[in-house]
This record gives sequence, C-alpha cells and structure tokens, in this order.
Amino acid sequence: MAEKKKITILGSTGSIGKNTLDIIAANPDKFDIVALSAGSNVNLLLEQAKLFKPKLIAIANSGKSKILKDALKNTKIEIVSGNMAAVEAASLHTDVTISAIVGFAGLKPTMRAIENSKIIALANKECLVCAGSYMMNKIKQFKAELLPLDSEHNAIFQVFDSSKLENIVRIILTASGGPFLKKTRDELKNITPKQAITHPNWSMGAKISVDSATMMNKALEIIEAHHLFNMSSDKIDVLIHPQSTIHSMVEYIDGSLLAQLGAPDMRTPIAYTLAWPNRMNTTGSKLDISNYMNLEFYPPNTKRFPLLKLVREVIDEGKILPVVFNAAGEVAVYEFLQGNISFLDIENIIFDMVEHASNIKFKVNEFEDIFPIDEEIRIITLEKIKKHATNIGYS
Ligand code: NAD
Ligand code: MG
Repeated sequence: MAEKKKITILGSTGSIGKNTLDIIAANPDKFDIVALSAGSNVNLLLEQAKLFKPKLIAIANSGKSKILKDALKNTKIEIVSGNMAAVEAASLHTDVTISAIVGFAGLKPTMRAIENSKIIALANKECLVCAGSYMMNKIKQFKAELLPLDSEHNAIFQVFDSSKLENIVRIILTASGGPFLKKTRDELKNITPKQAITHPNWSMGAKISVDSATMMNKALEIIEAHHLFNMSSDKIDVLIHPQSTIHSMVEYIDGSLLAQLGAPDMRTPIAYTLAWPNRMNTTGSKLDISNYMNLEFYPPNTKRFPLLKLVREVIDEGKILPVVFNAAGEVAVYEFLQGNISFLDIENIIFDMVEHASNIKFKVNEFEDIFPIDEEIRIITLEKIKKHATNIGYS
C-alpha cells in the first residue's frame, strides 16, 4: 500500500479547511494530518483534533488555548497559541500544506511552509497579492511545488502549458459577478452584510464573499494570476460568466481555447491539489453536462465594478500599491461586516487609500518591508473611517 500523504492545514476551521477535511475524512487510508491551525474557533478546532489526531494544533487567539489544553491533556497533541502559532504549525515537515488562512495573516505561515512542505496548495490569495515575487522566488529556492487552489487558478493550471509561454495569448479569468450583478450602483447603497455574504453559486467565508460582491475578489485574482503564471496584466482578461461552470480559460496562438469545467464546489480543486500529480474521487458535487445549461459570457462593466480598473494601476506599480490595495480592502470589508460603513464605502476607501499611498515615502526593498506598510495602511484606513463617520461619506 502506498504511504499516506502528510497534510497540514493552515485555516482548518474555515470554509476551505472544512472542505479539505471532508475529503480527508472520506479517505483515511490516503492521508495523515500533521498540523491544524485556526484563528479563534476553538470548539471546531478541538473537534477536528479529536477526529484527525494531528501532531500539533495552533490557535491564534491565545485566550482560547486553555480550553484546548484541558480537553486534550490525555493526548500527545501539542498545542501552540498566539500570533506565531500558525508559523509554528507551518514549521513541521509535511507533504502538502493547504494555505487557507484568510487575509494578510496567512503570509508569514505560508512563507514558513515553503521551507518545510513539498507542496503548497495555495487558497490564500492575499499573500500572493502582497508578496508575489518574494513568494515565487522562495518556492524556487526551496524547490517546493506551488499548486493554485483558487478555482480559477486551479483551472488555468490544469490547461496552462508553462513550458511554451510564447504559445499563450492570454488568460481569461471567469467571474460569476457576485450576488449584485444585476443591480445598479444606486441600488447598492443600502446593501446589508447578510445580503453581501450570500453568494449565488459558491459557499465561502465572509471576506471572500463580500469581495466577490464588489469584484475585489476578481481584482485580487488578476494579481494572483500575474504572479502564478508570470503573465503581464494586459494578458489577463476577466469575463463575466454567471453560471460558474467554466472556471477559467487559456487562449493559445492557434486559436485553441482550453478550459476546465466543473460544479461550483471547492472540493474539486482541493482534491486536485491533494492527489497531484494523480487524481482522486471526491465527496463533492459533480457537473452533469448532459443536463444542458445555458452558459453566458460577457465582459465586465468597469464603471459598475471600478476595482477591476484600479487593479491594473496597482499591478503596474507592483510594489507598495498591492499591499495598500489589500490592506485597505481587508479593513474596509471588516468594517462593513461590523456595520460601521456602507457597502459602497468599501470601494471608496480602497480608492482613497491607493491615492493616499502615492504621498507616503514608503519603500519596498525586501520582503520584511511589506509588514510596516501593511500595518500603517490599516491604521490610516481606520483613522479615515472614524473621521469620515462623524463627517460626510463613509456613512
Ligand atoms: P474563512 O473565513 O472561512 O476561514 C479562514 C480561516 O482562517 C479560519 O480557519 C480562521 O480561523 C483562520 N484565521 C483567520 N484569521 C486568522 C489569523 N489571524 N491567524 C490564524 N488563522 C486565522 O475563509 P475561506 O473562505 O476558507 O478562505 C480562506 C482563504 O482562501 C482566503 O484567502 C480566500 O480568499 C481563499 N479562497 C477561498 C475560497 C472559498 O471557496 N472559500 C475560494 C478560493 C480562495
Ligand atoms: Mg476564485
């Protein structure tokens, strides 16, 4: 019998983490869990630890670690907590690391995982957005394999001939358009967090769901594709495809358009990364192509979704602006989910902060320079939100 693959999951209690464990639970003969890391969902992490018996579990919220220690005191499971807990989880040797912490918080653990994991299955897009070139260099340096787990990038990876880049005309990222595709900007004024996190096709965490509604998600995915496939931004197009059946496409010089299709179920790309270079059956839903569906495609309206235009500027600058774009976006989404700003303010804040960034004397000369920029932008963004809240705008 083949040896079991060793798996670490960073962000095991999230949507991607749970889907991954769902596949692993159905295949106990194929996988062993090395480490699981979570932010603060202690009850679910405890349940997962009991079921999968990892070597180590990590919780970022250190106030919750006592609950884990008490409940697991008769086991050999090591428990770590605090800011660096996920980095400790990523320090154990493993075959595959599922990088599925949401946001910039995933960057340090993912960079550490590159040193210790043969394969990085990357769901977290924010870390590539902020540190794409550093991450890609580190992957080469440690001879790790980077497998995109984001459904669009996973689709491209499956049909992308990286050995003959000259044959590739462009990448086409498909986008469902989110829950408000048919609404005018005027109708977006009073959107509630509950409405924004209800995606028509995919079931995902809160942050990426809101990002899908503003198309910030697709903007981040353009930057992600730029790094993963070494393509300039003018060779990455976005196409609205409300059915989320074609997950993305690659156009070749002979006119061939290669696509990957599937049900909108993240268990397909997750299984691809777990089984790579083989394939495996999954517990996920399958696409029934005989059940004929109408597939629609049309270009996005960048007036309606202005972040799709702004992102081109962000890529061209390529150093500070991606960090600013991401940090402002993370803060804005969090403030929206807390009910502190309106839905349209998310975009306003990102635009304001990208404009503001050109006045700051920041420099990015090495990887470590990214962190103070991220921190500073978060502080300024919050200050702006507070100031405007008592004034005009940012409702
Ligand atoms: P989620 O909010 O459901 O889960 C996030 C996970 O990160 C949780 O386990 C949480 O405990 C953990 N976490 C949060 N903050 C943390 C911190 N400070 N330190 C350590 N752990 C922390 O998010 P998700 O939908 O699973 O998405 C995860 C990542 O994958 C995101 O970057 C998202 O863009 C990307 N992604 C998700 C999907 C999807 O279908 N959900 C698809 C493509 C890409
Ligand atoms: Mg995606």
